[in-house]
Amino acid sequence: MRVLLVEDDLMIGESLSEALQDEAYTVDWVKDGRDAILTLKVQPYDIILLDLGLPNIDGMGVLTAMRDAKITTPVLILTARDELNDRIKGLDAGADDYVVKPFELGEVFARMRVLIRRAQGKAGNQIQVGELILDTANKRVTKDNIPLELTAKEYMLLTTFMLSPEKVMSKTELEDSLYGWGGEVESNAIEFLIHSLRKKVGQQRIKNVRGLGWYISSSETEQ
Ligand code: CA
Repeated sequence: MRVLLVEDDLMIGESLSEALQDEAYTVDWVKDGRDAILTLKVQPYDIILLDLGLPNIDGMGVLTAMRDAKITTPVLILTARDELNDRIKGLDAGADDYVVKPFELGEVFARMRVLIRRAQGKAGNQIQVGELILDTANKRVTKDNIPLELTAKEYMLLTTFMLSPEKVMSKTELEDSLYGWGGEVESNAIEFLIHSLRKKVGQQRIKNVRGLGWYISSSETEQ
C-alpha cells in the first residue's frame, strides 16, 4: 500500500516515514504543497497524510486542488493543536479525518486503517481469500489457521493482491505499490517475490495471465 506523506517539518517527516515503512507501507514524502499536487497528478495512492501549514501551497490548497481534480484518495490531516478552525475547514473541504500533533503513531496507523478499509468498502481489518486470512491490524497472515512467515515485501505483495481478488495486476502496478521513489527495483524483483510467495501461500493461489500480469484467485484449483 502506497502512502503520500506531505509534511515540511523534517523531524516529523523523517520519523513518520520510517515508522510507516516499518508498518509495511510504501512511502513517498514531499515537503511542500506544490510538489504534493504535482505528485498526485501522476501517482495513485491508497492514502494521503497531509500537514496543513506548508510552503508554497498550504494543506487546504492541496485538498481543494485534489478534490477539484476528482482525486478521491482518503486524506488524513496532521494538524497542530491551535489549528482548530483549519481542522474544521479541512473536514469541510473533503478531508476524511485528522490527528492532532504531537500524535501517537498507534493512533495515526489505526486511523489510516479505518480510512483505507472504508475507501475499499471493507468493514474489518481481516481480508480473506480462500483459506488465507490477512489481518492488516497486526500484519499476520494465516493459511488454514496456521501462521505464515512472510518477509515484509512478501506481506506487502500479498496485501496488494488480497485487497483486489481476481483482479489482474501488471508488473508496473505491483512495482508501484511495493517500491517508493529512489528505491532501486531489480528488473525481475516482482517475479522473484511471486515465486517465493507462491511457495508459502500455494502455487495455484497466485495465477499468471501471460503478458498482462498476476492475480490472486479465490480457488486454488488448476485453470
Ligand atoms: Ca507544517
